[in-house]
Amino acid sequence: MQLTGLLMIPFAVSLSFTAIAGGRQKSPGPATVRDTITREGYTLLIVNNEPDFNPRTRQRLIDAFFTVYPEEAARFNKNTLKQVTFFIDPTYKGVAETGNGVARYSPTWLKEHPEDIDVVTHEVMHIVQDYRHDGPGWLTEGIADYVRYVYGVNNLKSNWTLPDYRPGQRYTDAYRVTARFLLWVEKNKDLHIVDQLDAALRDGHYQASLWVRLTGSTVDQLWQQYAASPSLELKYR
Ligand SMILES: [Zn+2]
Repeated sequence: MQLTGLLMIPFAVSLSFTAIAGGRQKSPGPATVRDTITREGYTLLIVNNEPDFNPRTRQRLIDAFFTVYPEEAARFNKNTLKQVTFFIDPTYKGVAETGNGVARYSPTWLKEHPEDIDVVTHEVMHIVQDYRHDGPGWLTEGIADYVRYVYGVNNLKSNWTLPDYRPGQRYTDAYRVTARFLLWVEKNKDLHIVDQLDAALRDGHYQASLWVRLTGSTVDQLWQQYAASPSLELKYR
């Protein structure tokens, strides 16, 4: 999930207060633990407010970040942030959300779904995306799940797969439905469709006509073609 700038402000302000770089230190609060890890030019700051957060899960999130974030940056946005914050927040009722370089995770979700490590892969793509201009939310989330499919490190073990096409779906359904459609367009129409859409969304030049320019068809026409012949040979790494 991606937060809008407006929604993000209170969270960002509160976190900037706590986001003091440098090693491991206890905060004045009883539970907060901060760690800063740097590898090959990227820095991950972890702000953990859950004392019982599984250290194995924590390490897997870290390892996933340092695997997928450089890959996502290399392909989509070399100017993406060099420092990212993970906020483990027991008060957060969702699964994960990202804005302003901060990805917030629910420790409750990760306790109940310890294999769902690729929430990282999806969330940090929102940082790489850095879509400052208004674009369709379904496409933003579809691209993030496309990236989770392509770069995810643990999708099979977490039983995260792209659902087969079913009548009634729409490309505007976002997330995995849109991700699978993007893979189909990539395979059948334009190998660089996602790169082009992503760049246009970041530049603020995205328009629906971009689909026509890249593929010769409108997105609605592409969806009709997809619905008529939706087969894909999916492979998870
Ligand atoms: Zn998202």
